[in-house]
Amino acid sequence: MTTPMDTSDGALFAGRYRIIRRLGQGGMARVYLAQDESLHREVAIKVLADRHSDDPHFIERFQREARAAARLNHPNIVQVYDQSQGGMSYIVQEYVEGETLKDLIRRESPLDPRRAITIALQILAALRVAHQQGVIHRDVKPQNILMQPDGKLKVADFGIASAGGDTEMTEAGSIVGTAQYLAPEQARGLPVGPPADLYALGIVLYEMLSGRVPFEGDSAVNVALRHVQEAPEPLTERNPLVPVALESVVMRALAKDPRQRYQSADEMGIELDQVRQGLPISDETAVIGAATLAMARPAPPTPAETMVAPPLPPREAGPPRTPANPNRRRLWILLIVLGVVLLAIAAGVFAFTRGDTGGGTTTATTTTTSALVEIPDLTGQTQAEATAALKALGLAVLITKQASADVPTGQVIAVRPNPGGRVPPGTTIELQISTGPNVVAIPSVQGSAVGTATAQLEALGLLVSTVEDVSDSVAEGNVISQAPSAGVEVKPGSTVTLTVSSGQQTTIVPNVAKMDIANAQNTLIAAGLVLGAQTEVNDAAPAGQVVSQDPAAGTSLPAGGSVSVVISKGPATTTVPSVVNQARGTAEATLSSAGFTPSATEQATTDPAQDGIVISQDPAGSSQRPQGSTVTIVVGRYTGSTG
Ligand code: ATP
Ligand code: MG
Repeated sequence: MTTPMDTSDGALFAGRYRIIRRLGQGGMARVYLAQDESLHREVAIKVLADRHSDDPHFIERFQREARAAARLNHPNIVQVYDQSQGGMSYIVQEYVEGETLKDLIRRESPLDPRRAITIALQILAALRVAHQQGVIHRDVKPQNILMQPDGKLKVADFGIASAGGDTEMTEAGSIVGTAQYLAPEQARGLPVGPPADLYALGIVLYEMLSGRVPFEGDSAVNVALRHVQEAPEPLTERNPLVPVALESVVMRALAKDPRQRYQSADEMGIELDQVRQGLPISDETAVIGAATLAMARPAPPTPAETMVAPPLPPREAGPPRTPANPNRRRLWILLIVLGVVLLAIAAGVFAFTRGDTGGGTTTATTTTTSALVEIPDLTGQTQAEATAALKALGLAVLITKQASADVPTGQVIAVRPNPGGRVPPGTTIELQISTGPNVVAIPSVQGSAVGTATAQLEALGLLVSTVEDVSDSVAEGNVISQAPSAGVEVKPGSTVTLTVSSGQQTTIVPNVAKMDIANAQNTLIAAGLVLGAQTEVNDAAPAGQVVSQDPAAGTSLPAGGSVSVVISKGPATTTVPSVVNQARGTAEATLSSAGFTPSATEQATTDPAQDGIVISQDPAGSSQRPQGSTVTIVVGRYTGSTG
């Protein structure tokens, strides 16, 4: 039996979605095309990758994604239909046919400026709605823009979007995002608002218009640092077809200081639309755009300076200083490399390259002071104690949870970076907190819908297999029983077998028509049914015979159900009128009007008084006979006196 979470082609996922094929894979999930067998529509199911399914951090992020997005409804936003309940970890979304904007850029960039603007305006329409509802996307990038064949697009994955700020994550100062589209404040672990999404859109525009993102690097850390401290190369240098006004709009979106950027999707949309129409843009945009471009490349830092996190770049700065001679230049390059390395440490940027994401995601924080702090050894302390100790030292905290057989629940298993190391205040220190021994207590899922039960169990790292059984008391699709039973402690990865109701046992109703009642009853009992109400009617069928039944033969009925029958009591009868001694004509009329068919025979008589008179009848008057039956009358015919 396949498990309900089977994602192979043709499998029925979560009891409802028939997997058609895999659509793609991202940093933390796989996406499948499936047919929703209940609503008869195609859907895209995003399933959290196995390696994250026991990582509460990822499950949290994944579920928040669905919750945030489920509230949004807009033609430019991928609709979220459904999500797993209780932990494990899939999201059912609108299926968008087509390719991603990344595919389009790879194939056709640089895009024509008008086309790039049309695309950006649709993304802005989606962001506008989300921002109005307090949802920041936080992961705007071409991979999350789904292009339909008709040119309309939908923004997917209001991914790491957080509607108001998640305390643990903000407190930890950690952010996750794809480094190439990461706003500086996001890279620095600061709170983000709509301008962060507009920055990412600025990068997307830059990429559409030039074929490349402005900041590339061999690691996420590098790229993040470049967002923080480097000016982008002018778009018009990479692609001379880009109008200067459009470059200004993009550069304003890419301002390092979020306060200098557009503050809302509307603001940016209005200016993009002006560029499209060839109208002038605002002075503000022209000035800020120029300042973004004019920002000096970072001056060669001294090691002491690099301990200070980069301040927000000055709006106006002189041109980059040019080295006077090749030797000094070489020294400077050396210093820059050293500076970036030290800055990376100082900024406390940890690239958690997760699995095979190729460094696509990063967790970064920055600091604002220069004295170094020694990381204390906190193993064995409680989460609260350890957190307080780190905060007292001016360090930020990232909590991760992990099972441990030795360290009691809630205590620190390990500290990263390692205790004894020296870091600047503000650096994020990871505390691995024990979730206790690696066992889970199986919850009771009896009576739950199989999908809910499966999700609940899988969220705990358990595997689920199902068998079906009939049940009179448990509704179809709900769990009748589970093995092992609730409360039993097992290792994650153990299988729980659910017996799922296929509904009541049913039986096919046999045909009992034309049987007598005793036979009918025996036949029904043999089929596991009972004889129900019996109604008698007049019918041409012989009395005592079953004329009809309900339910009809061939239909199915829960076992023990009753079948009612209609039994013939023979045809309806009428009292035969007595017509003896009546004149033949009168007699025939009387019989006809009583519903009988008269049939006369004659008999010779010597009594003239009996001529034309009914002498006898059969059946006799007052007897009961079926309507329409024949009443024979004997009519006298005078043949003269004998003798
Ligand atoms: P990240 O993990 O950072 O979001 P990503 O966006 O590349 O990276 P996924 O969101 O997991 O990764 O999506 C993987 C791929 O699946 C996408 O690139 C896209 O091709 C496809 N895809 C995702 N959602 C849908 C959808 N609703 N309809 C059609 N295809 C989709
Ligand atoms: Mg995505």
